[in-house]
Amino acid sequence: MKIKDIKKKNYEDKNFKNYRENSIKKELLSDDEGNFSIIIACLLLISFLILSIVVLNTAIQEKNENKEIISSNEYQYIMKDYIRNIPLLEREAMEELSDYVIKNKKPCLDSKDDLKEIIDEKLSLKNQEYYNDYNIQINSSLTAIENTSDPFSYKFKVHVYSVKNDYSFEDIVSSDVDCINLKDPVPLLYCKDYHDIRFNDSSYIYGNSLSEFLRRNGVENNSNYINASSPFIIRKCPYDPYKHHGDDGGKIMKNCRDNGYYHESRDGACYLCRLEGKSGCEHYGFETFINPHKTNETGLVSACGSDHVIFSDNIYPGVEVVYNCENGLNEILYLDPHGHKVKYGMGGY
Ligand SMILES: [Zn+2]
Ligand SMILES: [Zn+2]
Repeated sequence: MKIKDIKKKNYEDKNFKNYRENSIKKELLSDDEGNFSIIIACLLLISFLILSIVVLNTAIQEKNENKEIISSNEYQYIMKDYIRNIPLLEREAMEELSDYVIKNKKPCLDSKDDLKEIIDEKLSLKNQEYYNDYNIQINSSLTAIENTSDPFSYKFKVHVYSVKNDYSFEDIVSSDVDCINLKDPVPLLYCKDYHDIRFNDSSYIYGNSLSEFLRRNGVENNSNYINASSPFIIRKCPYDPYKHHGDDGGKIMKNCRDNGYYHESRDGACYLCRLEGKSGCEHYGFETFINPHKTNETGLVSACGSDHVIFSDNIYPGVEVVYNCENGLNEILYLDPHGHKVKYGMGGY
């Protein structure tokens, strides 16, 4: 090889080496730029996330602080609202218990105990609701159910204790809860084992059940009560004093029976004892009448038609009282001459 050729070769080798170095540098440089972009993107994302968390936290904190800032007036308002709800829960509980007894055709062992259980559960749900909505801690439970001088009404007492920051509340909340428009389970509980007792929205229709029940209990003329009927829903009779039932040629009594009214009575069971399957109790209670089927016969005698007499261990007789007559058919009640006939002013019938 000539020297010139060798020089040329060296020159070419050098150029090639420079080209290689440059191209490696370029590659390295473009890799660095890529990594750099990814790092920047990651940093931006992380900053954004941190910012979002901070903003969100601040929002939640503000909301919580708003919850904390509750004035004395607001606290009182919320507690008043809570107390307003208590009688509604109590009435709901009575309705549920009565539906349960009717549905299962089974009396309660202790209706007040059962009501306490239902009401305490309802209160505990309500308390949780108030804690979630207002962050107010409430403890409450039923302490008593008392009979009153009005047999259609009970006094329910609930102990309520609540606390919120500097505020607290403690009281026995006493509410009057009535049993008007609730279902009367007594006829069903007494006649369920006999054939054919039915009820609709307003009345029991006994078919043969009551007549069979009376026959089993040694009552003569029990067949007068075939297809009898009596009220299903508790309604308070407005014709007070009751001796006015005999006024207006029997129209008052007719209206009373058509509406299925109940009357205050020392001998009749109160509502909560009716749920226990009792027709009479030691409390001041109420009574209604069982209407025999319409008849064209007169002068009949059968069991006295007050429900606390029919569904008792001591069924006594009543004489026929015709209070309405249409198309030759009499609408009648059987009433004992010196008791119910007098009480309801039906002496002249
Ligand atoms: Zn009446
Ligand atoms: Zn009672």
